[in-house]
Amino acid sequence: TRTPVNVTVTGAAGQIGYALLFRIASGHLLGSDVPVNLRLLEIPQGLKAAEGTAMELDDCAFPLLRGIEITDDPNVAFAGANVALLVGARPRTAGMERGDLLSANGGIFKPQGKAINDNAADDIKVLVVGNPANTNALIAQAAAPDVPAERFTAMTRLDHNRALSQLAKKTGTTVSDIKRLTIWGNHSATQYPDIFHAEVSGKNAAEVVNDEQWLADTFIPTVAKRGAAIIEARGASSAASAANAAIDHVHTWVNGTAAGDWTSMGIVSDGSYGVPAGLISSFPVTTKDGAFEIVQGLDINEFSRARIDASVKELEEERDAVRALGLI
Ligand code: NDP
Repeated sequence: TRTPVNVTVTGAAGQIGYALLFRIASGHLLGSDVPVNLRLLEIPQGLKAAEGTAMELDDCAFPLLRGIEITDDPNVAFAGANVALLVGARPRTAGMERGDLLSANGGIFKPQGKAINDNAADDIKVLVVGNPANTNALIAQAAAPDVPAERFTAMTRLDHNRALSQLAKKTGTTVSDIKRLTIWGNHSATQYPDIFHAEVSGKNAAEVVNDEQWLADTFIPTVAKRGAAIIEARGASSAASAANAAIDHVHTWVNGTAAGDWTSMGIVSDGSYGVPAGLISSFPVTTKDGAFEIVQGLDINEFSRARIDASVKELEEERDAVRALGLI
């Protein structure tokens, strides 16, 4: 029998946590033959609700779920962790300045990075979901000098999936017909969904669409502002789709991308495509045997260059702000 994999989820009592935990426990994160131990981290006010979720997890009698531990201590939560999903974050509230938001999140992600550094398993893989995800990932990574930097990733898979869906609708195809789509930059309104290298049923997506106006005025803003549109319609922020994207991100990281395709992930830059080394930015990425590579050699046209640069500039500003706050 296989040794259970330890999966830590922070903000476990939140709405993304609620949509995420049952799918981890039922085998969708790591595979239908991989037993898991869940470690739920919450702030003290969230512990009781996390216990309620744990009762429901028990009541599902998932064969793969070998244990659930609930704690408000990051050192306990990350002890022996193989996979960490950092979902809990301090949301932006009305009137909050960016500096306040970054410093509130620094107070969460810096100690969590240190706790991962000191307690996690050697093969730890970290996905940051809580916003501002790229910069929160940078803060945690900087606090974990003993963990390889590339193990800290930020989620842009929801943006990727949203873009797939919009492009399939536009071209009258299905999402399985689409390959090589890329989200570049920050998981924010400046993100750039790029279809110039994408394929729809084997043909170049930009040529199939053949409508730059639609790209600039409909596709890109629809993908980038989808979160706000969902809040407007649903009266609550996206949760099931965010949880689904977190599952996809880790599943792809562990199991690899399909031949001829790639995915989008926020990962530490090595300087590729003019993105300053050390920033955690979204790239086209292939994965194999748990390691990933940035897809090289793509031709970046002017339309794309301006948008990638704008998003990367925002990442640099966030990095400079957390540096000034002493968070990295
Ligand atoms: P959610 O579960 O809805 O969201 C959690 C985080 O995910 C937010 O930062 C949110 O950012 C982010 N996020 C990223 N992508 C998306 C997306 N596409 N749609 C929606 N959210 C997205 O928040 P809740 O308030 O329901 O729950 C948060 C929980 O975290 C609470 O239980 C709280 O107690 C806990 N918490 C735990 C901490 C810890 O473990 N140390 C620290 C802080 C909080 P955005 O708000 O920008 O959408």
